[in-house]
Amino acid sequence: MAKPGDLVEVITKNKTYKGILMPKPEILKSNTIVIKLNSGYNIGIDKKNIKKIKVIKKAKKKKARRKKIKQNKKLPTVSILSTGGTISSKVDYTTGGTYASLTAEDFVELEPKILKFANIRAKQVLQIMSEDVNPDDWVKLAKEVYKELNKKDVSGVVITHGTDTLHYTAAMLSFMFPKLSKPIVLVGAQRSTDRGSSDTFMNLICSVIAATQRIGEVMVCMHATPNDDFCYLHRGTKVRKMHTSRRDAFRSINQFPIAKVFPDGRIEILIDYKKLDGKNELDTKIDKKVALVYIYPGMNPKIIDYYIKQRYHGIILMGTGLGHIPTTGKDSLILKIRSAIKKGIAVCITSQCLYGRTHEFVYSNLRKLENTGAIFCEDMLPEVAYVKLMHVLGKTKKLDKVKELMKKNMTGEINPSLSPKVFLV
Ligand code: GLU
Repeated sequence: MAKPGDLVEVITKNKTYKGILMPKPEILKSNTIVIKLNSGYNIGIDKKNIKKIKVIKKAKKKKARRKKIKQNKKLPTVSILSTGGTISSKVDYTTGGTYASLTAEDFVELEPKILKFANIRAKQVLQIMSEDVNPDDWVKLAKEVYKELNKKDVSGVVITHGTDTLHYTAAMLSFMFPKLSKPIVLVGAQRSTDRGSSDTFMNLICSVIAATQRIGEVMVCMHATPNDDFCYLHRGTKVRKMHTSRRDAFRSINQFPIAKVFPDGRIEILIDYKKLDGKNELDTKIDKKVALVYIYPGMNPKIIDYYIKQRYHGIILMGTGLGHIPTTGKDSLILKIRSAIKKGIAVCITSQCLYGRTHEFVYSNLRKLENTGAIFCEDMLPEVAYVKLMHVLGKTKKLDKVKELMKKNMTGEINPSLSPKVFLV
């Protein structure tokens, strides 16, 4: 019987196809088989049209284990913790299937140049796509990071992560580690390693270089431009994925990145950063009953009732413009917000503009909203306010204290003023 990786001839009623039998993607129905043609393209063939599948050549068995990497005593050691996503998925060129990069050897095989900058240690913490990452995973990951940070010989930690929610994890870790004696660098890839345009290799080198620096922050290291010239090191609370597929999809919002990192080891610092602390502090107490709600024209105010009924403790609203929500007419949310706050739910306001700052006093409608007791989140990104509120509610449920903490700059998430130069950089 033909197995994935075998070279096969598929004879259908009308045509014969020759190619490598691929593992069937989960999304395809079971009545389809997929083969990789010589041209590199994959095609799906309906089983009911297939007369015969002939195996021309069986797939080669995988090579035995690779030899251990030698340690270079002169170099620092970086721990790579893998969580999944494109960057942790290597493509098997024979089958076209993907398998995870989990060991130090896997990462070195992927990009041998990382050994010029550090000895590598690796551990798999999760193996999921980042859209499936949840708050329990953040806690699990933070505890694993803490263990690595406390190892004497480790200079810094790199976390490989799917890009979709990488900025949520970066922000959450920023709050969970108020003190850091070593850097934490999150890295992902927009394009898989089987593509010539893959960003995996340079992102990986630059993240390892970044993890050897004396910066006491949680950061995101990703391509700065569409080319393989350098990466940006973004502050974990000021970064966002801004494009579905570009290699330079990650952008610092409302401020400049911390640094440029070049794959030859050079670093160019762009703004002030937190210096290393003498110790690491971990605080994983979070309250998961927080919602992130997008405001839009025609929104049914009863949506807020759902969160009240489900006994949520916090709601982040992604308002329009300066932080507006519908305040007049049948779609007004004001009464709902007021009753949520009366029940002790913290309601916070951010902007779907992403750039700029929310303002409670510019328009009378904003004042109406402020009068309900809603908390305006300055220039914080909505996703950052969301994880911060989980963190804050893990400490206190008292609304005046929640307000005080949400308004306080804990780890670079709030800028007191915004330079006009930081728009769309
Ligand atoms: N959507 C997946 C994730 O975020 C794959 C994409 C990626 O890693 O960039 O994990």
